[in-house]
Amino acid sequence: MTDLNTWQTLAAKQPFSNSALIAGRAHAALSGETFAVRNPATNALLANVAACGDADIDLAVSAARKSFASGPWARLLPRDRKAVLLRLAELILAHREELALLDSMSMGKPVMDAWSIDVPGAAHVFAWYAESLDKLYDQVAPTGRGALATITREPLGVIAAVVPWNFPLDMAAWKLAPALAAGNSVILKPAEQSPFSALRLAELALQAGVPEGVFNVVTGLGQHAGRALGLHPDIDALAFTGSTQVGKHFMQYSAQSNLKQVWLECGGKSPNLVFDDCQDLDLAAQKAAFGIFFNQGEVCSANSRLLVQRSIHDEFVERLVEQTRHWQPGDPLDPASKMGAMVDARQTARVMDYIAQAGSDGAQRVAGGEQVTLNGSNNFIQPTLFTQVTPQMRLSREEVFGPVLAITAFDDEDQAVQMANDHIYALAASVWSDDLNRAHRVASRLNAGTVSVNTVDALDVCVPFGGGKQSGFGRDLSLHSFDKYTQLKTTWFQLR
Ligand code: NAP
Ligand code: MG
Repeated sequence: MTDLNTWQTLAAKQPFSNSALIAGRAHAALSGETFAVRNPATNALLANVAACGDADIDLAVSAARKSFASGPWARLLPRDRKAVLLRLAELILAHREELALLDSMSMGKPVMDAWSIDVPGAAHVFAWYAESLDKLYDQVAPTGRGALATITREPLGVIAAVVPWNFPLDMAAWKLAPALAAGNSVILKPAEQSPFSALRLAELALQAGVPEGVFNVVTGLGQHAGRALGLHPDIDALAFTGSTQVGKHFMQYSAQSNLKQVWLECGGKSPNLVFDDCQDLDLAAQKAAFGIFFNQGEVCSANSRLLVQRSIHDEFVERLVEQTRHWQPGDPLDPASKMGAMVDARQTARVMDYIAQAGSDGAQRVAGGEQVTLNGSNNFIQPTLFTQVTPQMRLSREEVFGPVLAITAFDDEDQAVQMANDHIYALAASVWSDDLNRAHRVASRLNAGTVSVNTVDALDVCVPFGGGKQSGFGRDLSLHSFDKYTQLKTTWFQLR
């Protein structure tokens, strides 16, 4: 899968679903309403998709509740549930090209990234949770003789997942794999820009043997479908990835309805600290560029603040400017493209606005900053670097969600840590140092869910992912994510 021609041929033939999927069947919105989904790289219309509202959400929740209560999934033997989810992982891989195209064509990422990272990543996550589910043991409490108390993990019931457009398939997999592995029934609401891979995933799940009603997908707009899920009285937990602003809405919806558990993976403004004792500045620059330009910078854990020691600031910036040559935006279907299109015109305008404001705030633009037109679409932005960014500037304070790096010089370790931690977000951080003691000391002082040392974006299904402060709470991935989709039950047997 390495040539543009092949991808273009596949893209021309790719069908796009236009309905939700409830109780195992395609579902048009009861209101008859739809919303348009366009390819941001060409502006072509892909489909008019069902815009679900309150009544459709009611149907999806009752399908999920019914399937949970009747038990064809929740009460399946662990090894049988495992077999179904392993089949799903295989089916994801068997549909690798198609799933890669569905995400790339709807949200603009390079198709080769979707094909080589996102799709196998989702398959791996399903396989990993499938393999884990029949190896989790429950506990017996140390009550002493006279009683036997078991502490068992039970599925919660009906779980809703509301996910963003930046990694449509993977964000769905991160929530659904553990939720399904634990025996829950789920309702997934993909972002309005990228509903297709979620719908295909649910069809593949049916094919793998997930019973009807256990995995439902509701398409629609956040303020209708998302809100209706947040407020629904019969959903037990809601897992969200997206902006902090919408995350706060979900806390309110929960408080206004049934106190459903809410788990939030929200924004970030992750600092990348480069110390002058880092010996491989070329590698550090290469990774710093990846950390901000991968996926067009539309990454919640993007290394969007570069804090670099003053003594190496200028030479490091030079290396970074050089790196931007490799990240010029291109046709997402072209295997040579490392950056594709921004998700839509609104996000493009938003990022351009941050670029303009950084300039007028006094930051120095040393690379990029321009919008680019390709194949009739304006939704492309050059990889952009700003130096002399102060911690007070908007470019330091707010999540841009685009290929724009804020670079700030620091003088010593204390100042670097102070700048890194002085933020409303605490999702991820990176440290570059070849002094083992310093690396360890700084990593322990950084306020972040994940600290990557001498790399960026350290991520694997076997380690938890998530943050603190206004980046949210609760963890995706690893065995810890079962905490979100199960509840503990104590059963006390009084013995005679
Ligand atoms: P968003 O508005 O937070 O949307 C995330 C999800 O929540 C989508 O499924 C969205 O549906 C839904 N939603 C939106 N408004 C809602 C509401 N009032 N009630 C219930 N659900 C609602 O994120 P976005 O629109 O995709 O992007 C906006 C900004 O959020 C970005 O620029 C970026 O800064 C941040 N963001 C962060 C992450 C992350 O991983 N941390 C991911 C994406 C975006 P619709 O798609 O239909 O609106
Ligand atoms: Mg949105």
